[in-house]
Amino acid sequence: MPHMFVPGPVDVADEVLQAQAQPMLPHRSPEYEAIHRRAAEKARQLFFTRHRVFLMASSGTGFQEAAVRNLARERILVCANGAFAERWFQVATTNGKNADKLTFEWDEPIAAEVVAAALQKTPYELVVLVHNETSTGMQNPVREVAEAVRATRPDTLIAVDAVSSLGGAKIEMDAWGLDMVFTSSQKCLALPPGLALAAVSDRALQKAETVPDRGWYFDLVRLEKHRLKDSTPATPAISLIYALDRQLDRILEEGLDARFARHAAMARRVQTWAEAHGMPVFAPEGYRSHTVTTIVNTHDWDIAALNAFLMEREMRIANGYGPLKNKTFRIAHMGETQPHHIEELLTALEEFIRQRPSRKS
Ligand SMILES: *Cc1c(COP(=O)(O)O)cnc(C)c1O
Repeated sequence: MPHMFVPGPVDVADEVLQAQAQPMLPHRSPEYEAIHRRAAEKARQLFFTRHRVFLMASSGTGFQEAAVRNLARERILVCANGAFAERWFQVATTNGKNADKLTFEWDEPIAAEVVAAALQKTPYELVVLVHNETSTGMQNPVREVAEAVRATRPDTLIAVDAVSSLGGAKIEMDAWGLDMVFTSSQKCLALPPGLALAAVSDRALQKAETVPDRGWYFDLVRLEKHRLKDSTPATPAISLIYALDRQLDRILEEGLDARFARHAAMARRVQTWAEAHGMPVFAPEGYRSHTVTTIVNTHDWDIAALNAFLMEREMRIANGYGPLKNKTFRIAHMGETQPHHIEELLTALEEFIRQRPSRKS
């Protein structure tokens, strides 16, 4: 099996791929509804929530849109220190919302006190932030930011993009006081792309009821009405729900704590290896992602050539994202990736280093 050390889509276990090959069911049938309910119930454990989880035929970005359409009439604060937060800001403004961007350097975590100061000045209805910035390998201190928001403006809702961390790192929606947390199928959950999952609090739904022009497809009030009947307003991605149902069993069988520990251990291993080779980790200590490591390309490696070398060995890493392309490269360690895969990758990278002087790259 090839090893995709890229931050999504990631490798999918054979039995999960095969779960998709089960025959179709009508989505308005008791048989399908039972599977939908079962998967949604199990998924709640990943979010550490007593609230509902929506399963949506969409990629994760769909829920960036749902958050801004449903949880604010007007005023949104986007905390931004990476490419996916920048996208969220665009999603907010192109949906006609009056959004402000609170910008941090890409190598700086979001600072809770700066968010609190912005809220003191302006009564934002919604604060949004990305838990794990896949572009930089930064894990933002969501818990601290949420605490600061609560202390400053208790009525402000908090939505978190956990697309590249949920299921790989512990995010406690209820204990941290978050109102919406979402992810995509193709990252830490190690499913094929095409499905998005979002947990939404009661007070977020109550707010949504007061917000006009929520649209149709991502209207959380409509989704909730159908969820109560174990269904969705439009046709669900049935094959992906089969796969999700199977994969959640595998995830819960591994145990969430063991799964989080595995991701953290792989992250530490990659960080230590990079530093031992004179390549700093882009994100500061204490804020480094457990699921993807962004490494500064100090030695000026030709990343395309490196990937060609790795692909001969059925492996693949990711170049830096956007403005960080070639200046950094990224090693994802999420989903089905095991510590022994990381060792195989690092061995190949060592081989690349040894060969490199003769390669004129
Ligand atoms: C991948 C990613 C997205 C986009 O997810 P899609 O499923 O491609 O829509 C959004 N946010 C973060 C942090 C991501 O890593």
